[in-house]
Amino acid sequence: MSDLRELYQQVILDHYKRPRNFQKMECANRHAEGHNPLCGDEITVYLQMDGDVIKEISFQGAGCAISQSAASLMTTALKGKTKAEAEELFKKFHDMVTGEGNGADPMELGKLAVFCGVSEFPVRVKCASLPWHTLHAALEGKDESVSTES
Ligand code: ZN
Repeated sequence: MSDLRELYQQVILDHYKRPRNFQKMECANRHAEGHNPLCGDEITVYLQMDGDVIKEISFQGAGCAISQSAASLMTTALKGKTKAEAEELFKKFHDMVTGEGNGADPMELGKLAVFCGVSEFPVRVKCASLPWHTLHAALEGKDESVSTES
C-alpha cells in the first residue's frame, strides 16, 4: 500500500508542477470561477460545449498542490465526455474523497483514484473537490463564482 501511496503522490506532484490544459480558452462558451477560502485555492474552468459534449476544457488557477493537480487531472478525464457523464464522474469522485458512497470502486475513476487518500484529510476534501464544483457551475451555465463555503 505504501508503494501505491507514493505513486499517487508522484502523480499529484507531476500534475501540480506541469498542469495539463492550463490556459485561458478564448473560444470558450462557458466558464466559471471557484474559490476555497479555507486554503486560498482559486480555479477558473473554461469549456467549449458542442451541444451536450465537452469538446474542449481548460483551466487556470492558483493554490495548493491538491487543488491544482485535481483540476489538471479533471480536465484530462473529461474531454469528449457528455455533461451527464461528467456529472456522474463528479459524483463518484465526491463519494471517494469524502469517504461516502459505500463500495464506490476507485477503479472506475481511473487516474482520479490518486486522490483516494484525501478522505483521510477532511481539510483537503474541499481542495480536491473545488475544480469539480466549479465545473458543475460552468456546465450549468451559471456566471457567478462558486465558493466551497457557500
Ligand atoms: Zn487547497
